[in-house]
Amino acid sequence: VKNLVRFCALASALTLSLGAAAPSTEQRLESAFLAIPSADGARATSQVMNQSYHYPGTPGDHQLALYMRDRMRAFGLNARIESFPATVYTPRSLSLALLTTPVVSFDLHDRAAPGDAGGSRPGIGLPFNAGSGSGEVTARVVDLGAGIDRDYTRVGSNGIDVRGKIALIRYGAEYRGSLAKRAQDHGAAGVIFFTDPSTNKGPAYPNGPYPSDFTIQRGEVMDSDKVPLKIPTLPIDARNARVIIANMHHGLSDATVRLHVEMNARQTTLWNSIGEIPGTHANQSIILGGHRDAWVFGVSDDGSGIATLLEVARGLGQLHRSGWTPDRTIVIAGWDAEEIGELGSAAYVAMHRSQLQRGCIAYINTDESASGPDFGAAAAGAIADDATTVIRQTLGISKPDIGDPAGGSDFESFIYGVGTPILDLGYTGPLGTYHSPYDDFRYASLYADPGFVHHKTIAQAIGIFAMRLAQSSRPLHFVPYVAALNSGLRDLVKTAKQQRLAVDSVSLTKAIHVLQARAIRYDAVTMPQDVPVALRVAQQLDRIAYSASGYSGVAFPTIVNALATGKQSAVDAEVRATVVKLNQAASLLH
Ligand SMILES: [Zn+2]
Repeated sequence: VKNLVRFCALASALTLSLGAAAPSTEQRLESAFLAIPSADGARATSQVMNQSYHYPGTPGDHQLALYMRDRMRAFGLNARIESFPATVYTPRSLSLALLTTPVVSFDLHDRAAPGDAGGSRPGIGLPFNAGSGSGEVTARVVDLGAGIDRDYTRVGSNGIDVRGKIALIRYGAEYRGSLAKRAQDHGAAGVIFFTDPSTNKGPAYPNGPYPSDFTIQRGEVMDSDKVPLKIPTLPIDARNARVIIANMHHGLSDATVRLHVEMNARQTTLWNSIGEIPGTHANQSIILGGHRDAWVFGVSDDGSGIATLLEVARGLGQLHRSGWTPDRTIVIAGWDAEEIGELGSAAYVAMHRSQLQRGCIAYINTDESASGPDFGAAAAGAIADDATTVIRQTLGISKPDIGDPAGGSDFESFIYGVGTPILDLGYTGPLGTYHSPYDDFRYASLYADPGFVHHKTIAQAIGIFAMRLAQSSRPLHFVPYVAALNSGLRDLVKTAKQQRLAVDSVSLTKAIHVLQARAIRYDAVTMPQDVPVALRVAQQLDRIAYSASGYSGVAFPTIVNALATGKQSAVDAEVRATVVKLNQAASLLH
């Protein structure tokens, strides 16, 4: 009954046109909440984010940690800083030269953008890749296109040996760390990255939202174990890249290039900003988070997420002050060091692991909540249907396309470390100023979210979903896992074939069918759920159905890893173990 009433709540609350039954407490709370997040509030936070360079460990980063804590306190949350130890990478020295006569020494600085004085501020240092190796390489440069497998095949068939050369790679096809690792595995001595504006679908910054030939994308290149590369890598702009390309014939430079990267690894303390509204069931929680650190000013990435979360805090804090206490604790987090390996969220999960395992019902992430016009989301099966309902009701998107969890932001430690069901959502777009100083207030207000409307509506969606998850007697569901498992199984069979191995798909299909039958019956029940048991099942299924490889998602990760060993016996053992886990999960659903 609760759910049925709630289903109609927003429509009637928003239109005030139905003279039916008096609104329930929950309806009144939801409409009270919806009225609070504001575009003006988000704009004001964006201006604060825009004020300082806040790469992890800088004074600006620390100031913003305190700012976010203090804002949450002002809104009525219990808020604190949780410090954690971390390794922060910065460049000691960087240089790049084309050894023609005369030698061309490249200017590696961000160039001033006409009309954007804010983004052209000094004092931000040279662009670099966190996790680059250190070293000096003098070698010819080979054009490796997008840097994916077929580029290496093409270059090889042109008779060019990548070994010992510097790879020139256009960003974008995959997570840049995967591109760098592939180059290293092929024997490249170094990598130069750039963003190619020739594929833009519209005007380049500062005249539009797309990358220009002077924007330089910084970014990390570490693998999932946070191990730095052995070879040096450097991001440059397209203007400099064109000078190197002009020296090439058939994809190989005539002259050599001298690439010098000297990195500094500093052991230091970083800061997560954590706010809480304690619930009556203190052992159960809903966590909302985004990253507060940035490569430079990061007003869209992820200043938009922080501005959004502070609007959620303003709304929930106001309800709390007027006497509302959620059943489950609601936590709002501003993570540090997402940009250099998702370190803040990983530290939080490590520090609170057993508590999260016992009672974290869901983690909702927003990284670039409002960086462009296109809505996107990914959700774990346990909360996917309820997330769809909230998105439909609060954002007015009739059939939101919600994908499976993959990689690339702070939800990873929650879902892959603990199995916590996650939702990741936001409005994204070209963000041509990504990881550059031009991801600033000018870009946000002109291109990412004019009027700061999406900041406000995403805050409404996150807040309403958090309230429902915090109150629901049946917060977790299981039917949506079936589709993810079935499509994952199809991919698995394909992968196995490519590697000339076999996957016992009959046993896996049977286990998925058993789970499906149980889940259908379980999800149809209306009496309160045994939440700790349901959470255990969700955690189990999340780890079977989802995993990340760079930015992409992969189901059945343990079987995929077994396939990579090339041993049929290892594959068979993992299939058997997975069938047991699926059967265990199914047996708990009654
Ligand atoms: Zn981000």
